[in-house]
Amino acid sequence: MTAAASDKNLRNTVLTWYGLHHRSLPWRSPPGTPPPPAYHVWLSEIMLQQTVVKAVIPYFLKFIRQWPRIEDLAAAPLDDVLTAWAGLGYYARARNLHKCAQTVTQDYGGEFPATAEELQKLPGIGPYTAAAITSIALNIPAAAVDGNVERVLTRYHAITTPIRDNKKQLKSFAERLAYADDKNAGDLTQALMELGATLCTPTKPACPACPWQKTCLAHQQGIAADLPKRAPKQVKPERHGTAFFLSAENSGKLLLQKRPESGLLGGMVEFPSTPWRDSIYKKEQDILAHFPLPGHIPAVFRKLPGRVTHHFTHFTLHLTVWAGSVPETTLSGSLFWAAEKDLHKYALPSVMKKLHDHTLKENKSFL
Ligand code: SF4
Repeated sequence: MTAAASDKNLRNTVLTWYGLHHRSLPWRSPPGTPPPPAYHVWLSEIMLQQTVVKAVIPYFLKFIRQWPRIEDLAAAPLDDVLTAWAGLGYYARARNLHKCAQTVTQDYGGEFPATAEELQKLPGIGPYTAAAITSIALNIPAAAVDGNVERVLTRYHAITTPIRDNKKQLKSFAERLAYADDKNAGDLTQALMELGATLCTPTKPACPACPWQKTCLAHQQGIAADLPKRAPKQVKPERHGTAFFLSAENSGKLLLQKRPESGLLGGMVEFPSTPWRDSIYKKEQDILAHFPLPGHIPAVFRKLPGRVTHHFTHFTLHLTVWAGSVPETTLSGSLFWAAEKDLHKYALPSVMKKLHDHTLKENKSFL
């Protein structure tokens, strides 16, 4: 069989399998039916970056209920979008989502542009998302290569070196499949992702159920579960800080602070803390130098046992917590008071939710 014939054959078998075994997801149209709105494809693809389908579904439904059209999302205050996003992590995605909605609304009349090149000029849209939107929403052939597709193709071709060393080759395999026919572009993209997500899974590939098992080299060689080979892990740097969990003496409100709009967790809300640095804070005066209300340092702090550990993409953060009561002073700048019962209204990232839970648990031992 020629390479082209084999690519067509692979397409056909995976499309047939997808027609029978696809999962029904809220951002998908069933195979062979008109494509879903580009707004839904884009929103789901941004949410699915670094996040599993099960976690994304409730967020996707919440967003399209709250903002049914991209124009509605564009008109929403950024704080509302960040609050709705809280818990999904990687908050730069939410800020870019909002910026992108505004650009599409203002510059493109609410319609996503129809080429991958134009799409990639929009905030937060890279080659993968552009290919996913053009193929799934517009049915234009494009190779959308995510981690699932890379794993499937690595195994299918029995590539025994780490994925990061074979990106170009894997992309070209995916392009051959994508461009072997100009029909069913969206279904093909989703079929390949689905194969990786449901059968050709990271640890236990279900080869006997796979539409490609007859010609898959890794399966033939009995090495499917050993691939892809892992690249040596890099040790993540660690950072340390102390957070101040401060409640107002009379009302019990909590002191919060909005982070700067740009940078890590930009625009999100946090409990004030020392800067996060490479070394542990050992001296009290180093910690107190960053106390957010310098004129009102409590006479007694509750230095809570344990610490909160959170893994960001590029570093691991360890936060100790000092809890105390302070007068409910008038605040300026990014600081503000919030009632405990209202915390859910603010865009608190996961690390701060963890810190809050840790504090409530450990604080009890002092009460
Ligand atoms: S046969 Fe097995 S290893 Fe090969 S693509 Fe299918 S599930 Fe993956």
